[in-house]
Amino acid sequence: MKRSIRLLLLGLSLCAAPHAAELPAMSDAEKAAIRAIVQETLREYAAALNDRQAASADAKKILGEIVRDNQAFVRKHKPAHFAHFADAQHPRATVVTCADSRVHTHALDATPDGDLFVVRNIGNQLATAEGSVEYGVHHLHTPLLLIVGHVACGAIKAAAGDYSQESPAIRRELDTLQIPKGEAGLGSVKLNVNNQVRLAMYKFEEQVISGRLTVVGAVYDFNNEMRQGLGKLNIINVNGETNPARIANLEMMRGLDTPAKGAARSH
Ligand SMILES: [Zn+2]
Repeated sequence: MKRSIRLLLLGLSLCAAPHAAELPAMSDAEKAAIRAIVQETLREYAAALNDRQAASADAKKILGEIVRDNQAFVRKHKPAHFAHFADAQHPRATVVTCADSRVHTHALDATPDGDLFVVRNIGNQLATAEGSVEYGVHHLHTPLLLIVGHVACGAIKAAAGDYSQESPAIRRELDTLQIPKGEAGLGSVKLNVNNQVRLAMYKFEEQVISGRLTVVGAVYDFNNEMRQGLGKLNIINVNGETNPARIANLEMMRGLDTPAKGAARSH
């Protein structure tokens, strides 16, 4: 397009040149070539304009839906809903989750407002959001740091493959996922969650040792790959413990729904 614009401008400047009369007469073939360039450029310009208009119409429609959903939210929630977190927040947990649109807090908290300090990025990782996670643990003092990976994670798939053609910014965020090449499935999703738990325990060692922080790793399963039910949040790591039987026996897991035997076998 840029080349075409340059050619168009060249064509226009030739047409509009004050000394056009002094230029050597153009042959019919040369005139036809310039006309073809101008026509091609105008076609490209019109096509690009249509693409932009279509994209802009999509964005307008989506924004309209968001505005209407927010209006419904405003109507549904009385001032009392906002009153208790107007000036400060006291979340129960810091949650690091993948930015994936299929993973949302309502799957793990019926009332997430004011309740979860959520940090999202591709691959649910600490390295690319360290300050945010620190804020949750050090300033908001949440006793739980929950790291949530998920099945069919695009970031894991990308990190397991060749991402050398991605932009530098995306490459930087995939470089920090330490998973084997060619292993894009559930095993790598779990490995990444376990890696993130280990990093968090190293980073917040003092809080973990003193019992002020528990780091939990989980996999949200919307494909039932772990055979525990569609939409299940499967806890696979508690403060570095990854053995399902031992996790089930931990004091903090007593009375909770623990992984079934099938999950232990697939681990
Ligand atoms: Zn993901």
